[in-house]
Amino acid sequence: MPGIEGQIHMVMIDNEGVGDMGDIDWFNGYIFVPFSGGRKLVIALFSASDLEMKSYVILEDLSDIGWCAVQPHTGVLVTSNSSINRENPVHLYQINLSLLESDVLSLEPICTKAFAKPNGEIIEMCCMQGVTFIPDGSMLYLIKGHFDDNRTNGGIRLFDFLSGILLARSRNGSGSFNFAYDVGAPYEEPEGITYWDLDAKSAPGIKGQLHAFMLDNEWSTDDIYLKHYRVYFDEEYQPPMRGKYKANRSKDKREVHTADCSWADNIALKNEIWYSTVGEALEDGYDGCAHCLKKYHQR
Ligand SMILES: [Zn+2]
Repeated sequence: MPGIEGQIHMVMIDNEGVGDMGDIDWFNGYIFVPFSGGRKLVIALFSASDLEMKSYVILEDLSDIGWCAVQPHTGVLVTSNSSINRENPVHLYQINLSLLESDVLSLEPICTKAFAKPNGEIIEMCCMQGVTFIPDGSMLYLIKGHFDDNRTNGGIRLFDFLSGILLARSRNGSGSFNFAYDVGAPYEEPEGITYWDLDAKSAPGIKGQLHAFMLDNEWSTDDIYLKHYRVYFDEEYQPPMRGKYKANRSKDKREVHTADCSWADNIALKNEIWYSTVGEALEDGYDGCAHCLKKYHQR
């Protein structure tokens, strides 16, 4: 970028043999940039005001990072390999906040974490592209996918961060949470994601809180799509997630009912998960109720 001392900093990073820049995040006036594809995996720290590189950390316990995200308020940095599964969990590091004040990045490993369906089954994900936390840090949006995927792998997922439980997922081409992209030719691919409330800001023509990047790989003339979503978290808003089917995610039940089934009334609030189609509930590992969904009753 003209006027910014970018060249010098790229040389320093090149000494570690790093290549691709992944999905970045912002925290306390700094930009955190993951680099992979070279000899070393690096998280680099840039000053947000002038894009000067201040510091970097080499990650030894991962093999391929494409993203990093920092939990607001706590400074917990989260990243993973390109695939997330039992062998490749999400890694959590505590940023040393007092060193950060003097422009030094230092990461202390905290733990690893798995993500799971509401029924407790570990979710395996490939082609990780990016993650962003919501402002209070309690939930995160995750985006993944690749241009030669199957149609259902890619898109956006919302997870509760503490429990790692899946709360919502986008659809490819339909619904109120639509992240549409064409797999195969024309090589469309989900990329990074960020949460930034632009409803009250003066970004011309742009509103919403969640912003996702989709790249149409045309090799010579790439097209870039930025998709903007309005996110409702206030309690009065009745989200469209109150669907026709109600599942019980308590460990000894794991059943799905039609909303009007009398057994559905007994589900504790903390255990209820709503679905708009029975197929989605079955896909998440629920068994059909013996009364209202006899056809799908297996256990
Ligand atoms: Zn039922």
